[in-house]
Amino acid sequence: MRTVKTVRVWVIGIVLVVVTALFVSTSLAAPVNIDAVKNDAAAFIHDHSEEFISVSDAIWSYAELGFQEFKSSEALKKLLEKYGFKVEMGVAGMPTAMVATWGSGKPIIGFTGEYDALPGLSQKAVPYKEPLVEGAPGHGCGHNLLGTTGVASAIALKHVIEKHSIPGTVKFFGCPAEESGSAKIFMVREGIFDDTDVVLDNHPGNEYEVQSGAHTSALKLYRITFIGKSAHAGSAPWDGVSALDAANIMGVAVEYLREHLYFTHRIHYIIQEGGSWPNIVPDKVVVVAYVRDTDDRLPTTCEKFENCVKAGAIASGCSYDVQVIKAYHQKHSNDTLANLIYKNMEKVGLPKWTNEEQSFAKEVQKNMGKDQTGLPDKPIFTPPPTVFTGGGSTDVGEISLVAPVATLDTPCWPKEIPGHSWGVVAVGSMSIGHKGMLLGAKVLASTAVDLLTDAEQLKKVKAEFAELSERIPYQAYVPEEIGPELDLFEDEMSKWRPLMEPHYKEPKI
Ligand SMILES: [Zn+2]
Repeated sequence: MRTVKTVRVWVIGIVLVVVTALFVSTSLAAPVNIDAVKNDAAAFIHDHSEEFISVSDAIWSYAELGFQEFKSSEALKKLLEKYGFKVEMGVAGMPTAMVATWGSGKPIIGFTGEYDALPGLSQKAVPYKEPLVEGAPGHGCGHNLLGTTGVASAIALKHVIEKHSIPGTVKFFGCPAEESGSAKIFMVREGIFDDTDVVLDNHPGNEYEVQSGAHTSALKLYRITFIGKSAHAGSAPWDGVSALDAANIMGVAVEYLREHLYFTHRIHYIIQEGGSWPNIVPDKVVVVAYVRDTDDRLPTTCEKFENCVKAGAIASGCSYDVQVIKAYHQKHSNDTLANLIYKNMEKVGLPKWTNEEQSFAKEVQKNMGKDQTGLPDKPIFTPPPTVFTGGGSTDVGEISLVAPVATLDTPCWPKEIPGHSWGVVAVGSMSIGHKGMLLGAKVLASTAVDLLTDAEQLKKVKAEFAELSERIPYQAYVPEEIGPELDLFEDEMSKWRPLMEPHYKEPKI
């Protein structure tokens, strides 16, 4: 009896240990299978592709200019709200700017999106130049795809966070007027990105690429007004003071100055208002000018440029007013983050282009005088330039000084097709653009999964950012009293809306 009892006690003991072990192993957070989470995100994007495409196509058809993106932002808001995001519109005093949030606690992963179009680039989805509405705006920089990629990434990330019980918060930053008024300057100045751990940015492009380091220029955009005195240019020119003379002298001074500026600079300007008629001495001339350089050189280059303005005014006897419309920094892409994006680019691969898509792309290339090389065919990682020689600018630069950021260039255009062209508008509402957009969302959602599940990666990204912040602390170039110019395109857009409305496509949300 005694032996049987002992055996029974042992058996019960072993059973208890096994049951307890099983209970503990299932009640503790099971290790996340990162690849399975990424596959779930990709499957979600695939399953909802029709909805995402319909939103992008709707924004393409609205083609709204900077700060006029009322219908475009509404479509993205509706989509975000459908999937449970809390959307705050009108942030930083801009009606079409938004912050959408889902989840709680740290880390906070943010995605950016833009949705403004460009003037005069209306185009049908055909491989030759043919406007949809002659002279109307068009999505010449693919921002219809850009905004939707950001939103699709955010929604897919929310889906997998919820499904796999991963802690974290997802944000989408809707940033209007990238091409003109640059909302990000004012959103950053308001502190909207301050609590975000990492910002994942995207832009449609003619390659499948990610860059690290500083590739873009810092920028200051000026509006200069010269005021003179009008007079009869034939009978009494000596009574006049020419504002056009001031602008011309300014221009000559700038051209002499160029030789002595460092090769990283760019200065370009137009005379927006040059007088009303040649026989009247112009009493008002308006010049709009871009001055670009590296972050460390921009203040000095701007000072020298402003001296040229002053020289024009003094020599001609005019008075003058210098107004800064906007200004922002170089984009300092986080190297660790760019590498992480690149790993996911390799993993996700490229879209499978059909023969029809390749032919369409080659036709666009032929009609734009480019080599017929077809569509992007490999992932590219571009390290920081050994010598920075200057280039374009983006207001993402402003974000890069308050949060770690890197941009995925999604493969949406034929190779070598430049932005701001009819060729970009042509592919922006067809399968080429759609495939690049969906692929972009998969890569960004996968990168976000890495950041949420691998604390070491996140730490590395943040440590690199902390080092940058020490070297280049954020300080707005734009003075506090300057706000966004919300009415920049108000008249222009109201002129085109009635003509564009018959071509609107509605999102299927
Ligand atoms: Zn753009």
